Amino acid sequence: MAQGMRFACQPGCTQCCRQQGFVYLTEQDLIRAAEFLRMRAADFERRYVYRTRRLLRLRTPRAGRCHFLNEDGCSIHPAKPTQCRAFPFWPELVDSRREWNKTGSYCPGIGKGPLIQIEAARAEAAEMRAGYPGLYNG
Ligand code: SF4
Ligand code: SF4
Repeated sequence: MAQGMRFACQPGCTQCCRQQGFVYLTEQDLIRAAEFLRMRAADFERRYVYRTRRLLRLRTPRAGRCHFLNEDGCSIHPAKPTQCRAFPFWPELVDSRREWNKTGSYCPGIGKGPLIQIEAARAEAAEMRAGYPGLYNG
């Protein structure tokens, strides 16, 4: 779906942080977020991260919303995980007009702003694929 992708993140919006689903981290994301919070990586992991054989993800708090979401938005914004930075240029959205449009039902930035070159969108998506081999490589 190369034509007609428009996107501009809307100030003050946090809708993507409020959707159901896991927030995955790369090993580098974990280190960066721990540094940002001035924590040891091991402590950050113990407190916030669930590690499986192939994936790292933020633990889901009881209320079901991300630990780092507060009234002002993401409290670790400069060090937020790769999938948060890349959204909505996730491979499954960039490659499917249907999924892209569906995501527009909760992301008000989709359909706004400048036309995004498909190469730029795919470069972001490639970062996701590279960062999360446990998700995208079988
Ligand atoms: S839902 Fe869309 S517009 Fe809102 S914060 Fe996320 S990316 Fe930006
Ligand atoms: S880490 Fe930040 S950007 Fe990612 S879901 Fe949580 S609050 Fe949102």
